[in-house]
This record gives sequence, structure tokens and C-alpha cells, in this order.
Amino acid sequence: MAIRPLEIVPSVCPHDCTSTCALEVERLDERTIGRVRGSQRNTYTRGVICEKVGRYAERTHHPDRLMHPMKRVGPKGSGRFARISWDEALDTVARAFQEKAARHGPETVWPYYYAGTMGLVQRDGINRLRHVMRYSRWFSTICVTLSDSGWIAGTGMKRGVDLREIDDHSDLVVIWGGNPVNTQVNVMNHALAAKRRGATLVVVDPYRTGTAERADIHLAVRPGTDGALACAMMHVLFAEGFADWDYLRAYTDAPDELARHVATRTPEWAAAITGLSAESIADFARRYGRTKRSFIRCHHGFSRSRNGAVNMHAVSCLPAVTGAWQYEGGGALYGQTALYPLDRSLIEGLDVADKSIRALDQSRLGAILTGDPAALHGGPPVTAMLVQNTNPAMVCPDLNLVHRGLAREDLFLCVHEQFLTETAAFADIVLPATTFVEHDDFYTASGHTYFQVARKVIEPPGECRENHEVIRGLARRLGATHRGFEMTPWEIMDWTLKRSGMWDAETNWRRGGQDCAPPFRKAHFLDGFETADHRFHFKADWKRFGGRWAQMPVLPDHFDVIDGATAAKPFRLVAAPARTFLNSTFTETPSSRRREVRPTACVNPADCEALGIVEGDRLTLGNERGEVIVHAMPREGQQRGVVVVEGVWPNKHFENRLGINALTSSEPGFPHGGAVFHDTAVWIRKS
Ligand code: SF4
Repeated sequence: MAIRPLEIVPSVCPHDCTSTCALEVERLDERTIGRVRGSQRNTYTRGVICEKVGRYAERTHHPDRLMHPMKRVGPKGSGRFARISWDEALDTVARAFQEKAARHGPETVWPYYYAGTMGLVQRDGINRLRHVMRYSRWFSTICVTLSDSGWIAGTGMKRGVDLREIDDHSDLVVIWGGNPVNTQVNVMNHALAAKRRGATLVVVDPYRTGTAERADIHLAVRPGTDGALACAMMHVLFAEGFADWDYLRAYTDAPDELARHVATRTPEWAAAITGLSAESIADFARRYGRTKRSFIRCHHGFSRSRNGAVNMHAVSCLPAVTGAWQYEGGGALYGQTALYPLDRSLIEGLDVADKSIRALDQSRLGAILTGDPAALHGGPPVTAMLVQNTNPAMVCPDLNLVHRGLAREDLFLCVHEQFLTETAAFADIVLPATTFVEHDDFYTASGHTYFQVARKVIEPPGECRENHEVIRGLARRLGATHRGFEMTPWEIMDWTLKRSGMWDAETNWRRGGQDCAPPFRKAHFLDGFETADHRFHFKADWKRFGGRWAQMPVLPDHFDVIDGATAAKPFRLVAAPARTFLNSTFTETPSSRRREVRPTACVNPADCEALGIVEGDRLTLGNERGEVIVHAMPREGQQRGVVVVEGVWPNKHFENRLGINALTSSEPGFPHGGAVFHDTAVWIRKS
């Protein structure tokens, strides 16, 4: 018998990770994949992917995949369902949406989605239905709102220096507020290439992450104090002659004001705020100032705080003070998503969007579903939802309130998912969804500059349908008309790419993605920043974002609005990502569960001693929003008063069946919103 050669199909990782890795998927037959590997065709990801996606077959062919539509036959949240046909399911959803809209107006329907896939057609097509039907609009706040605001306040646009430069050109690499060993393995790959060449690797993070363990220097700041550290660094840079005044005069808005301002932000001042020693702050500043080839990779983690935008802006000021932006291997990167000249009107139905319709805040789901008039913008209650690509019953802040809202009997909930998630368990109708290997889509990246198209690799299992097909089916039943509903995903991609002046879908797919990296001068802002006066702005115009801008410091500073430790709640909680989960995704795969073991709180050994805690002790973490039960792990490398719990574990894995987000707040960050997952004061009780 002839042995069939192994078929390798190119693809792209769709998960909520800035790496957007180029993949090669083994196709064993028309319904089965084998191993997934990184593709060498992408010079950023260059063959490296994380372990969880390497084992994607485990997830694709998981016995718990949803295979057919279901309707609820038990109480809300009971998880008791009966099989129904697709026609019955979609008819039921359309009828419910029509009835609710007839009673309360169309804004009562709130399509809700997020980043379970980052593919633009399958993720964002839900907005086309929203806009055509005039349903409540979407204010996306759970991930990048704070970090975007902070970065854009200085540079004017979400783009930065190509990280590939660090391999051969950076003398100092700073990974600030992120843990790429867990979350973006490619950053680590490039940083270690630089380190092998002799570059110094510095990590700024409140705890000793896997990334910090590989660094030459780890600065374990207190959560939410990064702005103070950056200000004190600027103090040293100005005071000790590391500022590039020619650059400052040519490229920045207010260097003299900044120099005067940070004159009082000494290392001793920052030491009292950050918990670091004044010596370590000054040493870091000098190392940063001594080379112009210093590169900062700004991650999202340190922005997930009420003052996160101010912190991000303060850090982005550093290369403008030393003039590092001018040099190969110098500057900074937060994200590259503004590089892609993509016309999204067909995908999202932007041609029919009406900005007068209220936009509800994704992170305020609990307040919205429990009838908070401010969260509802004074409008009608939300009584019907379609949820795609997200699991708010695990990932939303203020989880007690979210669960109370999802349990409302008058809320009609349809969830289209790959697994029976804890959100799906609250649903009236559950629909089975495809994974990325079972549909076509295309992808921007944030950590690099490739735009990539992916074809489906295998046929969907059971009765699973792609998001686009579900949206089309609902549109037909609701009488929603838009040409996007008449097209296939491939046609939408092709039309969009041609319209945007990019390679067509077939060419992109065949060539392994289009690299949209700008030339050196543009990437390094040497033709000017993307602000109105083309200068980097030390003075942030927070007003442009709206919200509570008037309370914010104009120049970089420590903005003391965090949920600080008190006598009653003496610990600051960091709810950090785990290595083999990705938000709530992969929590269902056995290998990830084995590796992560159980919900665990890492506590400084001196705090453990003071509280009489030893490894494995059962701890209750609590505050005014709720309590969660975890197990103790004494850990060096974080300050006293800091507690770290990695991973968004399913609620069912906690003894009291409430996950870590029972503790996090849905209070919006400054100026105009954004979730504050790492800005939480708690008490710890040995139980
Ligand atoms: S590193 Fe990120 S983008 Fe790459 S395979 Fe893993 S989850 Fe996907």
C-alpha cells in the first residue's frame, strides 16, 4: 500500500495574542489535523509558536466540542439542553430579537463579541448585523483601550519600531509590563537573540515571571507605579547629561517644561512609590541613557490599571528624551495595528453605522445587565444578546454582578461557541462554532507587520458553522440587507484587500502574508510623529479621548488613582496570564490543565511567614466584590503586599465556584474607559 505524503497546509494563529504566528498544519485527512508548527515564511515568527497551539489537535478534536444546536430545557445556568435543528435555533433567535425590539426598541438587543478569534471576517461580521439592525453599539474596553490611549497620547498613532531590529542592533532591551514567555513567545525569541549577542535584557514587572527569570535585571515594581519609575528615569537622564537636546528641540513638544517637571521626580521620590531602591532606579536609568540603541517593548500588562494610560504614556516618553528613536535597534514598540491600510466598511457594515445609537461598554456587562442607568446611558434595558468568541462569565470584571445579570429570566441569550463555556451554560440557545482550521479568514497583527490570509484546513465537525454563516442566517430571518450578507468570507476578503490597495486574497495566501513594514525613517518617526504638529507630545492631550480627562496629569507623572492597599485590604492583586491558557481558551485542554495544576496565589515569603502560610495552604482572597479560594505558593521576586494569581481559571475550578474576576473591578480606567484587571486591593485569610 502506498504511503500518502503528509499534507502541510499554511495557516495563521487566530488567538488573542499579538504574535499572530504563521503556522503549518498537518492535514491527516479532510476532517483531521495533526501537529501544528511555526512557518519560516514569516520573518518575525520564523518557525516559533507556543506549546498550546502546537497541540491544537487536542482542542480541535476534543470530545467536548459542541456538535449541534441546542435549546435550554433546565433553569438558567443549569447547563441542561436538548438538541434542535439549525432552522429551529435560528428561527428562535430571530423571533426573540424581533419580539424584544418591538417592546423596547432595537437598542435592547446587544450583540457581544471579542477576541476568541482575531480573524476580521469571522470576528467582526457581527457588527454588520448590529449596524443594519440598529442594535446597541459596542465600546470595546477589555484589552487595549488604556494602552492605546497612553501610547497615542505621545506618538499620535498605534505603530512603532519593528521588533526584528533588536536581534542585531539593540544594546539594551527592556520588556516592560508583560510576560512573553507566557503570552508572546516570539518576543522572547528575538530578545534572547539580542541577549546572546551581548545586549542587556531588563524586565519591569511586579513579579518574577518566566520572562524575568531570563533577564539580566528584573525590577519588581509595585503594580500601578510604572509612571513613577519612568519619571525618575527621566530625572536621571536630564540630570546626568543623557538627554539628546538636539533631538528634543527638533522632535518634541515641551522638553524644557518636562525637564523642569521631572527635576522633582527623583529616584528617592519614585522609590517610595514603586518600592524599588533609589539605587536600582538610577542604575536602570544610566544603563538606558548610556546607549542610544535601547529598545522598549511596552506590553499591555502595566496598562491594566486605573492610571494605565498615564503609565504607558510616561514609558513611551523615554526614547524621546534620549533620542533613541533615531537609531536602528532604538525606540519602542507597543503595537503595529495602525500600519494596515484596511477598509473595514464591508466587513463591519460601517457604511450604515449610526453614531447616535448608544455604545455600551463591554467591561461593564454586570452593571448593564443589572440595570445600572448610567451604564445603560439612560436607554432601555438589554433583553437580548448574541455572544460570539468570548466567555464573559469568566473573563469580565466584577463577576458576581455579571452572573447575576446573565441569570435574568427576561434576558434572551444566544451563545455561538466551540465548547459549552460557562457563558453558554446561561444561554437559551447554544450554537456550535468552527475553529480557525475549519474556516477562511484574514488577520492583522499587533506585534509584527504582516497581514495574513488563511484558508480552512479541514471540514467542520458535526454541525458546526462559522460565524459568518450564522450572521447571514440571522440577517435573512430578520430582514437585514447588506451586500456583505450575500458574499462568502473569501469574497469579502478579496473585495476588502483590493479596495485597500493590498495584495488580493489568493496572492497573500500563496506568498505567506504581505509585510506592511514601513521604511526605516517612517518606522522611527524621523519624518515626524503622527500628531498635528508632528512632534512627540510630552504634554498629553487627554481631552481628545473624552471621559474624565480633566483629572489627569498633563505631563508624565504618578497618577495616584489606583485601588491602593489599606489596613483592611493590605494586598495588591495581579491577575496575570498563565502560560498554557489564553484568557478562557485552552482551559478545556487536558495538557494545559495538567500544566497549570490549580488556581494558585503567589505570595512573598515574608508575607507568608507573617500570616503563618505554608505552601499548599487554602487561602481566601477577598474584597467588597467577592471572595475566591486558592492555594498558597510562597514566591521570591515580588514585593511584600503583592499577590499574583496566574490564569483565568474556569469558575468551576474554585471551591466556591467563582473565579478570579469576582475580585476585579469594572470601574473604567482614565480617561475614557478600559478594564483594570491588575488594579485590585484584597485581603488574604488562611482558611
Ligand atoms: S504565540 Fe500567540 S500567536 Fe503564536 S501560536 Fe501561540 S497563541 Fe498563537
